Amino acid sequence: MSMIKGETGDWEIVLGLEVHAQVISDAKLFSGAPTAFGAAPNTQVSLVDAAMPGMLPVINKRCVEQAVRTGLGLNARINLRSVFDRKNYFYADLPAGYQISQYKDPIVGEGEVEIDLPDGQTRSIGIERLHLEQDAGKSLHDQHPTQTYVDLNRSGVALMEIVSKPDMRSADEAAAYLTKLRSIVRYLGTCDGNMDEGSMRCDVNVSVRKPGGELGTRCEIKNVNSIRFVRQAIEFEARRQVEIIEGGGRIVQETRLFDPGRGETRSMRSKEDAHDYRYFPDPDLLPLTLTQEYVDGIKAGLPELPDAKKARFGKDYGLSPYDAGVLVAERETAAFFESVARGRDAKQAANWVTGDFFAMLKRRGVGIEDSPVSADHLGKLLDLIGDGTISGRIAKDLFLAMEETGKDPASLVEERGLKQVTDSGAIEAAIKAVIDANPGQVAAYRAKPTLFGWFVGQVMKSTGGKANPKAVNELLKKALES
Ligand code: MN
Repeated sequence: MSMIKGETGDWEIVLGLEVHAQVISDAKLFSGAPTAFGAAPNTQVSLVDAAMPGMLPVINKRCVEQAVRTGLGLNARINLRSVFDRKNYFYADLPAGYQISQYKDPIVGEGEVEIDLPDGQTRSIGIERLHLEQDAGKSLHDQHPTQTYVDLNRSGVALMEIVSKPDMRSADEAAAYLTKLRSIVRYLGTCDGNMDEGSMRCDVNVSVRKPGGELGTRCEIKNVNSIRFVRQAIEFEARRQVEIIEGGGRIVQETRLFDPGRGETRSMRSKEDAHDYRYFPDPDLLPLTLTQEYVDGIKAGLPELPDAKKARFGKDYGLSPYDAGVLVAERETAAFFESVARGRDAKQAANWVTGDFFAMLKRRGVGIEDSPVSADHLGKLLDLIGDGTISGRIAKDLFLAMEETGKDPASLVEERGLKQVTDSGAIEAAIKAVIDANPGQVAAYRAKPTLFGWFVGQVMKSTGGKANPKAVNELLKKALES
């Protein structure tokens, strides 16, 4: 928990998050129009999405299944009966004049998410609900000097609005919650979690109070589109509220916008209450009813989720909670690690994956799917170290060569002559050459045995790093003491 220090003492931050997650589905929630990102404006719009008179919405089964999957992944109650309502408001990019959403009877009820904090602790954050709703279109203000254009491609795309309980107490916790939520929906394949493409957007409810006191009035910061901005927005907003209250003012409930350029939030509009939207059940849609067998069938098909995988990595591979957490954050990373670790030293595999391998991906700016080094090749590299074909030091160079060429490590060892020298005759010759060339250092060594490492370095250097380090140590000791 992180408190804000004010003039009147400590203040506690209270945070609840509403996340809009775009459902992975080829078609929209109530029409057959496609949903691909980045298509030319107004090329993915059906008559339903354009709200032509007389058009009727038809629920997309795939989107319902995705919402149920997500609910199950959030350990939440699935409501076998839910209702679609009209939420009425006017936006230029909302041709129907209402959004089809769910109000009193959402498809998913209460659940919980376990978050992993930077200090290694975990905490449980309550989920209030998840409901299905349509996205609106998009107004384009930068295409013409005096006119606004409307792109309806997004109109009708299925969203899951995931509402947390006001359980978070710091920007760190909010960031950890979003990270975990994104990881879960990606594992489930229900949302791609790409915040920069807008497929996951976050509204943050912020209030402050004296520790343990009554909840304060909250402000909602709309549509924050990166975890970094969520942190900045929370820190700015909480401080702003403390300053107002301590200055004798009061917080007005309102909707605010975060300005990433200035790092501050500013007022957008006074907050509407639910009754302002005149919600009522959509007469074009029957209540949605599911059977328990249907839900159980989806549950049976869920993949192993991050928390379960993390626990298993700790148990089966003996990994620390930290290493396990890093490796399970993305499903692809976990699969890559497991294929490297299978039948090998798991700790060594984890070190290579989180060390040299991650550093390489970062340096190249690519994801694991575009890695020039495959799991199979990295595994073979570990085998070459294990059977003494190469030294640990040469392994680092070999890894770089694998990155550059994409080749199999065994053939690179052949091609470049990287095999470890274990032949004691060759090592002894190298040692003799170093000793003969440095009589002064030999004399110094007799007075100061810590110079031993310098000799090891010289021998390794003269053999191009290929000498077996253990053999060098033994033979060198013998030679220097004779
Ligand atoms: Mn919403």
